[in-house]
Amino acid sequence: MKYRHSFHNRLKLMGTKTYCPLCQVKNGGFNPLPDFYKLNAEQYGFIHFGNGEMTAHETYSCSKCGASDRERLYAYWLEYFYKSEDKCANKAIHFAPEAGLSAFLQKTELFEEYETADLMMGGVTYETDLMNLPFTDGSYDFFICSHVLEHVFDDDAAIRELFRVTRKGGQGILMAPIIVGLSKTIEDPSITDEGERWRLFGQNDHVRLYAHDDYVARIGVSGFKVHQFDESYFGQWLFKKLGLKSSSILYVVSK
Ligand SMILES: [Zn+2]
Repeated sequence: MKYRHSFHNRLKLMGTKTYCPLCQVKNGGFNPLPDFYKLNAEQYGFIHFGNGEMTAHETYSCSKCGASDRERLYAYWLEYFYKSEDKCANKAIHFAPEAGLSAFLQKTELFEEYETADLMMGGVTYETDLMNLPFTDGSYDFFICSHVLEHVFDDDAAIRELFRVTRKGGQGILMAPIIVGLSKTIEDPSITDEGERWRLFGQNDHVRLYAHDDYVARIGVSGFKVHQFDESYFGQWLFKKLGLKSSSILYVVSK
């Protein structure tokens, strides 16, 4: 995978301090992460707060459209990198669809067919459990599954299902919160006490906290190839404009 529009994009964003690929507003700036997370981290003693690979505390959401840092990274990659691969006949599914990214994907018609799925959220195409998907093998060319694996009881089963429903040659964005410097994934789906989940995993509905190497290895077991696109791939100049933390990595899997 190669980034073919580097020169063009550099020109387009020259002299721009901040840019949001979803609303396409230049110099609109970003808002910090709400205090809610910091206050809970302090109250419950979550020691890894602030060490996430991706979450940019100072530039978390777009001040114009509210898109989070990760939505900005996905939208940019999909529009300029994925599209440049001349993909066609795309049928995509977006799990736990982020409202802003979902609207962006429908507006840009990046995929010929675009569907959504979630277990709890209303208004999706399929109300379904990621660990047991009602789709035949190889149903999709592309999927987006971001910040779901840290919630599910059995993430191996969920990854196996994603692999199964992806066609050979298909790809997906597969992301979860990863803590920089954590040597081993912390997990215990049997813990249901919300305070204890805040303390161990940093959120009341999370059941695990991933370490980088574990995360990559766990996905690899399914058969997916894992591609890691970091700041050196996108360019420091772009990460700055998009308001991304320099340790951010986009995980793209392929079958
Ligand atoms: Zn925006």
